[in-house]
Amino acid sequence: MTKILKCPICKKAVPLDDPNMPFCSDRCRTIDLGKWASGDYKISSPILDPDLLEELEHAEQQRHPVDETKWKN
Ligand SMILES: [Zn+2]
Repeated sequence: MTKILKCPICKKAVPLDDPNMPFCSDRCRTIDLGKWASGDYKISSPILDPDLLEELEHAEQQRHPVDETKWKN
């Protein structure tokens, strides 16, 4: 049984000894990288999540009054 990978981009069979595997070509590798960069795979660093960033901003704002009180005392 010969193991053959399928290119995740174009579904073409890729031999295991292909230097570009699991992609069939450098072109498909670049397309895959582009998908990651544009967020198509929805696996991004949590810090890049807009909702989380908003939450962090709110937390930042809530911390400031406490800091001011500390400075006044
Ligand atoms: Zn391909």
